[in-house]
Amino acid sequence: MSDDAFRTVIEPFRIHSVEPLRMTTVEHRRDVAREARYNLFQVHAEDVLIDLLTDSGTGAMSRDQWAAIQHGDESYAGSPSYFIFRDAVRELFPYEHVIPTHQGRAAERILFSAIGGPGKVVPNNTHFDTTRANIEWTGAEARDLVIDEGHDPGSLHPFKGNMDVERLDALLAEREDDVPLVMMTVTNNSGGGQPVSLANLRAVSDVCHRHGKQLFLDACRFAENAWFIREREDGQGDRDVVDIIRDMAACADGMTMSAKKDPMGNIGGWLAMNDDTLAQTCRNLLILTEGFPTYGGLAGRDLEALAQGLREVVSHDYLRYRIRSTAYVADALDRLGIPCIKPAGGHAVYIDATAFLPHIEPLRFPGQALSVALYETGGVRSCEIGSVMFGRQPDGSERPAAMELVRLAIPRRTYTQSHMDYVIEVCERVRDGAKDLPGYRIVEEPPALRHFTAAFEPIG
Ligand SMILES: *Cc1c(COP(=O)(O)O)cnc(C)c1O
Repeated sequence: MSDDAFRTVIEPFRIHSVEPLRMTTVEHRRDVAREARYNLFQVHAEDVLIDLLTDSGTGAMSRDQWAAIQHGDESYAGSPSYFIFRDAVRELFPYEHVIPTHQGRAAERILFSAIGGPGKVVPNNTHFDTTRANIEWTGAEARDLVIDEGHDPGSLHPFKGNMDVERLDALLAEREDDVPLVMMTVTNNSGGGQPVSLANLRAVSDVCHRHGKQLFLDACRFAENAWFIREREDGQGDRDVVDIIRDMAACADGMTMSAKKDPMGNIGGWLAMNDDTLAQTCRNLLILTEGFPTYGGLAGRDLEALAQGLREVVSHDYLRYRIRSTAYVADALDRLGIPCIKPAGGHAVYIDATAFLPHIEPLRFPGQALSVALYETGGVRSCEIGSVMFGRQPDGSERPAAMELVRLAIPRRTYTQSHMDYVIEVCERVRDGAKDLPGYRIVEEPPALRHFTAAFEPIG
């Protein structure tokens, strides 16, 4: 069905079960922010009106997913639910070994425990924060090699998640023995939810295989990436998104996955690969902390809900709505003169806090300042992706991140267009008082992944 005839983006579903939102006041939210020491991860979700902290595990499951939950089989070993899950994964990603995990970072920890270690370097277009942390935890280096346009918030390049193939080739030539495998994040979450083209994936795959290296996808948003390929890449416009996904999968030798993203789950993940020896090592590590290889830290019912989610996420009606409704927010902010990463990403709108709050220098955390203001003003919870998240170096020093972003991540099938119109209005109000917003300093922080638990205080 074409949606060309109408301007309005309608949700391709109707609501079957509702959750109440708790209305709060500005005064209440200011108290809450102060008590949370200006870290929005520390705020109780009931004090949030529109929660755009993440699209991870926060989506609404469908009627058919809830039905699949009833079909779950909780046998410890060899549950039929595992085989339903495995086959649904293989329908899109036909890898030999499919190993369930409780979420994406468990897949990362197992993979990098198996292949990481001091002196190793793992290239990626842009490492997601947990991927980087799991690589660095083993003593290896996580290297970002996204194309230059990927660092330019204003560039209109259609595939800003692409890898710089020449730099990858040079790194592989120079550090051949130190690279255990190459990762590619689709879509590139930390780089603005930007897609990777099929042509780039194929070029990266060729370079990797010429150097005898395996390529793994960090495939959390594979369906959104495939939809962008269909919309933007020459010769792809008439294809079924399932065929595009299989082409993406064919470029790689394995994948890590958070099923809390495109597979429409509230929890889950997996690790998949063709390499038998590596799979055996990973299964042994899995048993140590996650569970037996046919459930990997998940219940049988979770596995069935994910299998059904994988069938739903490849619907063209769903993906057309998903990508258009994200662009709807980005276009509205653009019209209000609020600087965003362009073009809009798949799962989120990223506000460029450097351009929005030019009076706050990077190590006074403009992204943190903006996200606190969005919360206090309208109860909208967003996420800083900038120097709070990435500024602390493995040696303990501070360096400004490549970009200071605030991410408005949109949970799948959860909020309606009027919720988004409200978010747009909150952003407008924050814009009107932007020049008076204070910077922040960190007064307490843990050794790694500090954005989750650090305490802040406003400066002046
Ligand atoms: C969410 C995410 C992960 C980690 O997955 P979790 O399920 O949160 O552990 C890894 N990579 C990317 C790109 C992600 O978006």
